[in-house]
Amino acid sequence: MKCDGAVLRGVGQEWEVQEITLDPPREGEVLVKMAVAGICHSDDHFATGDMVPTPELEAIMEASGAPRLDYFPMLGGHEGAGVVEEVGPGVRSVLPGDRVSFSFIPACGACRWCVSGMTYLCDNGAMTLVKEMTTDGTRRRHVGDEDLTAMTQLGTFAEYAVVAEESVIKIDKSIPFEAASLVSCGVTTGWGSGTVGVGTQPGDTVVVIGTGGVGINAVQGARAAGANAVIAVDPVDFKRDTAKFFGATDTSPSVEAAIPLVHELTRGVMADRVVLTPSVLHAELLAPALMLTRKGGTCLLTAVPKFELSMVPMSLVDMIQSCKQVKGLLYGGMNPRASMPMLLDMYRNGHLKLDELITRRYRLDQINDAITDMRDGRNIRGIIEFD
Ligand SMILES: [Zn+2]
Ligand SMILES: [Zn+2]
Repeated sequence: MKCDGAVLRGVGQEWEVQEITLDPPREGEVLVKMAVAGICHSDDHFATGDMVPTPELEAIMEASGAPRLDYFPMLGGHEGAGVVEEVGPGVRSVLPGDRVSFSFIPACGACRWCVSGMTYLCDNGAMTLVKEMTTDGTRRRHVGDEDLTAMTQLGTFAEYAVVAEESVIKIDKSIPFEAASLVSCGVTTGWGSGTVGVGTQPGDTVVVIGTGGVGINAVQGARAAGANAVIAVDPVDFKRDTAKFFGATDTSPSVEAAIPLVHELTRGVMADRVVLTPSVLHAELLAPALMLTRKGGTCLLTAVPKFELSMVPMSLVDMIQSCKQVKGLLYGGMNPRASMPMLLDMYRNGHLKLDELITRRYRLDQINDAITDMRDGRNIRGIIEFD
């Protein structure tokens, strides 16, 4: 079938909305008519080049036999919700007409990591940025006579998406599409980071660095887990104000300014948990983040760093003598198939704010405006609405 989709041709380019072709769903695949797509920073990292390896790193990867990365042309979008239009043979978890949210990892449910309750580590994660489907290794998305890489095997910046059944999670019909879209990436990743990811306990002091679409939900999560104090760090006034609305007890415009603030709030103990959710994770942020972390505390990295070899400044003496942990994590340590329905139940009962996360709504052909607003810090979450 043919429909409109937003395509990125390379680093430094804008998204082009143009006609794309999607092949019909085959065994274990579904076609979804999109209702809402979220504008998340991760798509933009391909336009800025943050997610594209530097030539130095590419040479090392090539020498080690790693497959060559072939991201472009890319069909964008990895957050969204819609309605199943058609199912291929063997699909069991959804039927045409079902409302679904997407998972940016098409977790197989059968590998060692999936059966151990860590679907965010599924072996299929290695195939999230390739042109081939996880189902049978062939290609389904095209523009002209070229094949597309669909962002994280989804491509939600299009009127339709053809994806593996593993990428969709059935959502109750009473849930609005906007809420279902929000839990697809940013909310689940942030909320998980502020709760199970960083291990927040009742009474804890939690610092969240960067309170955009992901970090703001780490603030909500930390409060839900019983944190006594949540300090939101963000240079943008509007984001600090929003963080207060979502449960932050204190705010700081910079990590440097947060150090004396947290020192005072905790009488010198410092924060039990620190969650890093900036738009781009620069290596220099780690040293002050670890100064904010108390002895025995955890510093969680939930962000996209630049795809390069980074020299990370940290005091090894402090790490060891103070028994600090630095932890990297995907999806906030949540399992989408369990967590998304759970979060949507919390939303329905008024224990999770979702509607309030949406700052602006766009049409698909306004995609570049939506990206610009996100880059300029004007949005907590922008969304694209389809007909
Ligand atoms: Zn995302
Ligand atoms: Zn798996």
